[in-house]
Amino acid sequence: MHKEDQPLIFELSTEGRIGYSLPEMDIPEINLGELLPEGYLREEEPELPEVSELDIMRHYTALSKRNHGVDSGFYPLGSCTMKYNPKINENVARFNGFAHLHPLQDESSVQGALELMYDLQEHLIEITGMDEVTLQPAAGAHGEWTGLMMIRSYHEANGDTKRTKVVVPDSAHGTNPASATVAGFETVTVKSDENGLVDLEDLRRVVGEDTAALMLTNPNTLGLFEENILEMAEIVHSAGGKLYYDGANLNAVLSKARPGDMGFDVVHLNLHKTFTGPHGGGGPGSGPVGVKADLIPYLPKPVLVKNGDQYEFDYDRPQSIGRVKPYYGNFGINVRAYTYIRTMGPDGLKAVTENAVLNANYMMRRLEPFFDLPFDRHCKHEFVLSGKRQKKLGVRTLDIAKRLLDFGYHPPTIYFPLNVEECIMIEPTETESKETLDAFVDAMIQIAKEAEENPEIVQEAPHTTVIGRLDETMAARKPVLRYQKQ
Ligand SMILES: *Cc1c(COP(=O)(O)O)cnc(C)c1O
Repeated sequence: MHKEDQPLIFELSTEGRIGYSLPEMDIPEINLGELLPEGYLREEEPELPEVSELDIMRHYTALSKRNHGVDSGFYPLGSCTMKYNPKINENVARFNGFAHLHPLQDESSVQGALELMYDLQEHLIEITGMDEVTLQPAAGAHGEWTGLMMIRSYHEANGDTKRTKVVVPDSAHGTNPASATVAGFETVTVKSDENGLVDLEDLRRVVGEDTAALMLTNPNTLGLFEENILEMAEIVHSAGGKLYYDGANLNAVLSKARPGDMGFDVVHLNLHKTFTGPHGGGGPGSGPVGVKADLIPYLPKPVLVKNGDQYEFDYDRPQSIGRVKPYYGNFGINVRAYTYIRTMGPDGLKAVTENAVLNANYMMRRLEPFFDLPFDRHCKHEFVLSGKRQKKLGVRTLDIAKRLLDFGYHPPTIYFPLNVEECIMIEPTETESKETLDAFVDAMIQIAKEAEENPEIVQEAPHTTVIGRLDETMAARKPVLRYQKQ
């Protein structure tokens, strides 16, 4: 449904109008019928819009202005780390020597690129406290699957074939149980306690001889640090299982704590979140995986090694789980992450963590009087509110999210994690100023007041966007992605 007063003018076509000019043909015309079998030949003209170059320029420029991105506004989408992506990353990724490489070039001619990859691996080893890192996986979920396949191979190599289960907390990111299933495991859920942390009693109950691994996000998706992590590691390890760390959002621990020191055996990172790769449109990501020494033999091959002064790919890895991505990973995203790490330095990365945590706690405390706060403790880089109070007034969390659009904000993550009713999950990130945080908090407070005094304005939001409320199921199941002549 779109608003009556703001018609979406989509049909711009006028018969006979064209938007291109081609030089006159100076080669003999070919008879396509002689070249192609009949079934492949079009019988009718394609139904394309007939528009001028200016029409089409204005059309796409108008569409681009309706997009929301980090470069256009605040984007506090919890668990997604929509921080600013410094533009120097783009400059470096576009250096001719990087952008114009071919993945089939001989190793001797791409030593600089290999050195960058090797150094990035070394930085990630230092940041995570692991022993080795692969840059192959193309996304977080892909990294999860890669890590679990290595754990699987490890258990199999030890003749430990009865370990068929992966334990996942109820607050886990949805990709965790999905990756475990795709890697051939059965998922077992472990509960959170009243503090929002993994319930140790329940963990003891579910972990056993059939446990392949525990997958954990720390800080968890409630933005809380799992303070019993060493005890949890002990429970899982003494039962013979491995510990998997979902490090997609490392913003709260960078330069402060390391998954390797907490006892984790495998960790994946999302370079497209923490390390400022642009993301959100489903574009290329990078989900490197770090492992402890006993899992190194199972790393995807080829493994990048340094031999004297030379960098080369080692294919001779008989226990490797194999290749998980054509060529060597999404190199362009790796260049951006490398640039970011080198620009920030260790002190800069420490400041990232401190400011990400400060910003989240500041917003949480300012919003606390107006929304329910299910876990009243210091948070890390993000926090969750509950819209329970507003729901009693007939205003749901979905309505609050839609109303935020009228203020020009991308709404926070909502209805996730599942263990909080009417959940609103806010991640401000460290790159936002106090003024931006305050303006967003003021909008949230205004919405809370509207819910009490004038709930219709929230229930019927958004009021300022071109499109109002979509039938979200239809939009996902039957999207209209192609021009259709009217
Ligand atoms: C984003 C995210 C993932 C998945 O990463 P993708 O790159 O989208 O596959 C996994 N776990 C957590 C905690 C995340 O925030």
